[in-house]
Amino acid sequence: MGLVVQKYGGSSVADAEGVKRVAKRITETRRAGHDVCVVVSAMGDTTDDLLDLAQQVSPMPPARELDMLLTSGERISMALVAMAIETLGHQARSFTGSQAGVITDSAHGRARIIDVTPGRIRDALDEGAVAIVAGFQGVSVDTKDITTLGRGGSDTTAVALAAALGADVCEIYTDVDGVYTADPRIVPTARKIDRVSSEEMLELAASGAKVLHLRCVEYARRYGVPVHVRSSFTPREGTWVVDSASARAEGGPVEQPIISGVAHDRGEAKITVVGVPDKPGTAAQIFEAVADAGVNLDMIVQNVSAAATGRTDVSFTLPKTEGQTAVQALSRVQPVVAFESLQYDDQIGKVSLVGAGMRSHPGVSATFFKALSDAGINIEMITTSEIRISVVTRADHLDDAVRAVHTAFDLDAEEQAVVHAGTGR
Ligand code: ADP
Ligand code: ASP
Ligand code: MG
Repeated sequence: MGLVVQKYGGSSVADAEGVKRVAKRITETRRAGHDVCVVVSAMGDTTDDLLDLAQQVSPMPPARELDMLLTSGERISMALVAMAIETLGHQARSFTGSQAGVITDSAHGRARIIDVTPGRIRDALDEGAVAIVAGFQGVSVDTKDITTLGRGGSDTTAVALAAALGADVCEIYTDVDGVYTADPRIVPTARKIDRVSSEEMLELAASGAKVLHLRCVEYARRYGVPVHVRSSFTPREGTWVVDSASARAEGGPVEQPIISGVAHDRGEAKITVVGVPDKPGTAAQIFEAVADAGVNLDMIVQNVSAAATGRTDVSFTLPKTEGQTAVQALSRVQPVVAFESLQYDDQIGKVSLVGAGMRSHPGVSATFFKALSDAGINIEMITTSEIRISVVTRADHLDDAVRAVHTAFDLDAEEQAVVHAGTGR
């Protein structure tokens, strides 16, 4: 008998049938003798639909109101799941993020959890009920306003509650059978990974593999929460995210694959600051302006300056959602920095290769670049970490790039991966 936290994603609770199927699965865990705390996402594509709706009403919706709107999606599914569980003869009680004690900072749309005080969840569990918590939301410690944790944030709610409750495991139920060597929607021959180190999972999530929210992986690593990613549509074992030391101990250095997987990201845009005077201090001025606007950067490239003009171009990538803010911030400092113009390009994609074995195996980048060149794909920017190589390509070449790299590293499986549900939106 233990305590299990189960998180069900939007495609698992997309309709009434889905809600009933999930309720059945929860009660089976309950009958096996475990206490169960459940975290749910909004039904199907509800969050996207609510965002579309907001856009129709206001081109720049106030962040506070947008959070108020988006959190309603999770409230619908939490109540429905609780009702379905009661119908099956078990007690269930639903809680908003705020009621569950998820305390955040006040950064609307990307709030960070700063504390979890799950007193009411603990009480519900002690009274024999299943506790259902609305994912992806909390309450600001300063303003007392409702906040959201960023897209995909329900995974983080689940791990944060698992850590605060001292759960034995955090199960993330989704629409594929686990973490694969690439997104199975793009590479049908992607291979399911049985165990992935948290270090590699962090790089995959940071590079766009949205099967797990990045902060959920960081949180699990920091608090030592065992995470099991699996499908809510089959009883099959999924992927265990394990800490890097135990991955090495159990897999053994010989059996660890060199490459864990290929991730892609369609969510970034590129800004080029054209004609920047090539003198000390200008890069600092540019990036200070962007940082002051609260924008997170990813890759940065500075070209060699043209001898004739003494000017250079600086390009960087950032989330598309922050593009407008960054362009406005840069336009404001144009007279001071004295650059010539700005170019904004949101037709880019990023493909990343991740593997802890890169540290000790030469030739990985050579194979990566050769695969892209054989597929006729032009590389626009490159960055690396110790265990990752990422490049920017044209957006319409991204799928081909992912497939080419996946094949070049012999990651293709014999059988096709199953995508059980969802639109991939
Ligand atoms: P949920 O609604 O359950 O949170 P998400 O859509 O957020 O589900 O995440 C699951 C999706 O992540 C899969 O359907 C798949 O398309 C995508 N995905 C991207 N990269 C991977 C990967 N490496 N392994 C598995 N799924 C991946
Ligand atoms: N419903 C939210 C989203 O679509 C949170 C989540 O699903 O994790 O991003
Ligand atoms: Mg998700």
